Amino acid sequence: MPEANTMLCVSWGYIKFKRMLNRELTHLSEMSRSGNQVSEFISNTFLDKQNELELPCPMAKTRERKKRTHHQTQLGGQTPSQGTMTQISGVRKVSQTPVLQGCSVSRFGVKTDQEDLLSKDLEDINKWGLNIFRVAEHSHNRPLTCTMYTIFQERDLMKTFKIPADTFVTFMLTLEAHYHADVEYHNSLHAADVAQSTHILLATPALDAVFTDLEILAALFAAAIHDVDHPGVSNQFLINTNSELALMYNDESVLENHHLAVGFKLLQEDNCDIFQNLTKKQRQSLRRMVIDMVLATDMSKHMSLLADLKTMVETKKVTSSGVLLLDNYTDKIQVMRNMVHCADLSNPTKSLDLYRQWTDRIMNEFSHQGDRERERGIEISPMCDKHTASVEKSQVGFIDYIVHPLWETWADLVHPDAQDILDTLEDNRNWYQSMIPQSPSPPFCTGDGELEDGEGGHKFQFELTLDDGQDEDGQIGREEGERGTEGGRNKP
Ligand SMILES: [Zn+2]
Repeated sequence: MPEANTMLCVSWGYIKFKRMLNRELTHLSEMSRSGNQVSEFISNTFLDKQNELELPCPMAKTRERKKRTHHQTQLGGQTPSQGTMTQISGVRKVSQTPVLQGCSVSRFGVKTDQEDLLSKDLEDINKWGLNIFRVAEHSHNRPLTCTMYTIFQERDLMKTFKIPADTFVTFMLTLEAHYHADVEYHNSLHAADVAQSTHILLATPALDAVFTDLEILAALFAAAIHDVDHPGVSNQFLINTNSELALMYNDESVLENHHLAVGFKLLQEDNCDIFQNLTKKQRQSLRRMVIDMVLATDMSKHMSLLADLKTMVETKKVTSSGVLLLDNYTDKIQVMRNMVHCADLSNPTKSLDLYRQWTDRIMNEFSHQGDRERERGIEISPMCDKHTASVEKSQVGFIDYIVHPLWETWADLVHPDAQDILDTLEDNRNWYQSMIPQSPSPPFCTGDGELEDGEGGHKFQFELTLDDGQDEDGQIGREEGERGTEGGRNKP
């Protein structure tokens, strides 16, 4: 019975959040042309559109198909002529991976002639302020390997799970080599950043001794593999271009499914099985958790994750020593998937200097996708058109509607541990707000500039609450029905 109540509450919260966000986004999109683009971007990226179908437009389809035959691009490393789907694409022999069997491993698991500098950088391994860009610079661009190696040493995980050091390093170098160095954002630097951020969040005092070593191992492994073999384009792009990957995964969390498949497949490479000394039960349990966490990094699941987290915060129980009481698997895995999701959306919570470098990278990646869409003659995704994308506005919108609501909820969960993170996030938001170019209003729409001033003048607080069940537009019946089927699918 309490189970049923929670389910009802969760789906109710989800409907409310989704509707509230929709309403706010509609408002934003009516403000200005760039507001519209930001709103489109957020709506396309963070709201699950799986159940929304449009009537097909035969004309457009034919045109697109014609274009497509002219532009057969490779994605995810697979060859288009490969007629079968019997193997996981993207897994390849990595020539530069040194075979480390039997030989000793250097101090941070990577070869470097700047070990002193690297060692200095990695002194911050237990801090939110670690400069991962410098770690990359001083490790011959192997940030993921040396960060993970240092974290595993720090947490004594290699001893606990009897992972041979050479196996660990061989796996990590192989994994790192399967991140695309020529993709601007979703490369191994981002994976290293998410892994290190997860390492910090796991250590938050409010979660002291909550997670077992196996759960910690799973969270760090999930973070490390969560974007492997990312081609630098979105799920929607893969779906729209009828890619092999979209076919393989039937349009559902295409990239996330692929990252998981590649991540687990690489364990089977030579001397790569870091889980060789786990029991069968441990391996099964770890695999289940990792799959759960990586699938939760699909940004279209954001609202439903946040709704669940919000519910958890409102019913949270704390022990006498102030530690969160999570006594069942469902609650634990829910915190873990939100933790990795938070780490994945942590760029705006880092020092401004780091945050701005991440922003440059993601905007470059988006504009490359936009270029490919332009070449193919298909519609350019929001924020992907380098000629019109508004960097500052998109960051403010991204923080106001997505990042801040998430981190605020996380901060509530682990109160007061994440206060500094929240403060930095708010400072960064205000910095980007202050950097929005105040363009002179074009003569044909004088109202636009005025509106934008008003929009930016005060800080927008997008509050998500579960308490009032009132529905202003009286459409609850229909949407509840929709969510009902969705809930049935997502929560078996
Ligand atoms: Zn990511």
